[in-house]
Amino acid sequence: MTAQRIYLSTTIPYVNSRAHIGHALELVQADVLARHHRRIGDEVRLQSGTDDNSLKNVLAAEAEGISTRELVNRNASAFAGLREHLSLSFDDFIRTSSDPRHRPGVERLWHACQANGDLYRKTYEGRYCIGCEQFYTDDELADGNCPEHGTPAQQVAEENWFFRLSRYAGQLHDLISSGQLRIEPASRRNEVLGFIAGGLEDFSASRSVARARGWGIAVPGDPSQVIYVWWDALGNYVTSLNFGAGRDGADRADYERWWTDADRRVHVVGKGVLRFHAVYWPAILLSAGQPLPTEIFVHDYLTANGRKISKSAGPLDSTDPVALATTYGADALRWWLLRDVPRVGDADFSVEKLIARANTDLANGLGNLINRVVSLAHSYRNGVVRPCSRPQGTSRWLANAADGRPAGLPADDWPADATTLRATIASTPASVRAALARFDFRAGASSVWEIVEQANRYVEATEPWHLARAERAGDAAAGQRLDQVLGALVAACQVVAAEIWPFLPDLAARVAVACSDCGGKLPKPRPVFPRIEGVSGPATPPRQYRPAAVA
Ligand SMILES: [Zn+2]
Repeated sequence: MTAQRIYLSTTIPYVNSRAHIGHALELVQADVLARHHRRIGDEVRLQSGTDDNSLKNVLAAEAEGISTRELVNRNASAFAGLREHLSLSFDDFIRTSSDPRHRPGVERLWHACQANGDLYRKTYEGRYCIGCEQFYTDDELADGNCPEHGTPAQQVAEENWFFRLSRYAGQLHDLISSGQLRIEPASRRNEVLGFIAGGLEDFSASRSVARARGWGIAVPGDPSQVIYVWWDALGNYVTSLNFGAGRDGADRADYERWWTDADRRVHVVGKGVLRFHAVYWPAILLSAGQPLPTEIFVHDYLTANGRKISKSAGPLDSTDPVALATTYGADALRWWLLRDVPRVGDADFSVEKLIARANTDLANGLGNLINRVVSLAHSYRNGVVRPCSRPQGTSRWLANAADGRPAGLPADDWPADATTLRATIASTPASVRAALARFDFRAGASSVWEIVEQANRYVEATEPWHLARAERAGDAAAGQRLDQVLGALVAACQVVAAEIWPFLPDLAARVAVACSDCGGKLPKPRPVFPRIEGVSGPATPPRQYRPAAVA
């Protein structure tokens, strides 16, 4: 398969309040895609950022009695800090209120749509939810309240710039129904097609400066208006690529490389902002004469302890990803998000579930496997084991794994009774690839997990300690078999390290060190993931749980 060039993005959250575990879900999903594609040799750029220009930020700053600039600076840096806490690998992080690339790009998009005749002034009256930053029709409101926030929508009447969305209904329908713009899961594609079929109305693309409290990007040539925050925010996907650089198109190498010429342009978004990404944004791009995203993956929401996630919780809140990662480690948090959240449907988070999943899988399942295999290798072979052949590419991800063994599974150095384990190892890379191609993170994580389970079963089935005893009693055949069994198990552990890396980069690094030959032998056994003990419920202050550092 030839390497692809892939541009991946998360949405950029409003920074009016702190990050919660729903943000972590999207960031981790996008990170897994980025790492997976990098690992298989694709060129990847992963983009994230913050949406600073919302009226919500102005109101939040007023409530705190600080300037809007101060609020967005403080909160945006907290979002940027998730990179380290969650072991994320985004290549770029744009802030819409301060990044010098952003405003020129938004203005360029505006000019392009204007030149195409799609922006016009109109007096408008409607019901607006500041929480959503969007107008709602009376049909969409529930007793006058926003369907998303449950708060009353405000009556707004003013003259604004409008974008001629109605003009693009036919093209959008064709592009989406043909799959040229692929929306996953299919239920979300159908939802968008239904929305388009219901008729697209032109939308307000600006606000009066007064209503925006002077915060935001001025409409080019009309200082009385500020560009609608969603227009501004959606633009980040191209402004971060220097779309606005040089009126003559100079210095737009990033835009050409990662947007125009990329094989895939993939947005990872939450269900609440589907309409903006699958209708408004493609229409703006069509109007501006620019390529559309190729794929939009839509995740559902998380609840916490059966309730909608509150954004205004305290510092030890059980949905704060920084507190969770600090207390339980990024591996445990990532693993719950990847292993337990289904591709379709909301999922309920609790600290107890996170701990249970981490202890069952990472401490008992994987941790125990690595510890047993390395301990057996030391007890019976002084740490010197020659691993059986592994799939091509495995050794690249292992520390000091240059054991001279040819890559590729076909070499017939596997024990005859390890057929199932070997077959699982052989099929895993393709299963993970297929699962992630359909954005099924849980299925991808389960595929890797199958190796861990098969390997643990293989230990039980072969009972290496009995083989060692027979060898000591003079049975040379038992000794040869012990070599083979240990070779199969060490190979399995090494493959797990390579395959789990996109999901759990930190734990993968520890596993790689633990089961890679260094100076001719495996390192002494040490736990890769200790059990999380005695931590109950969200009321407990974070213990400084940190997995043992890799030497
Ligand atoms: Zn709302």
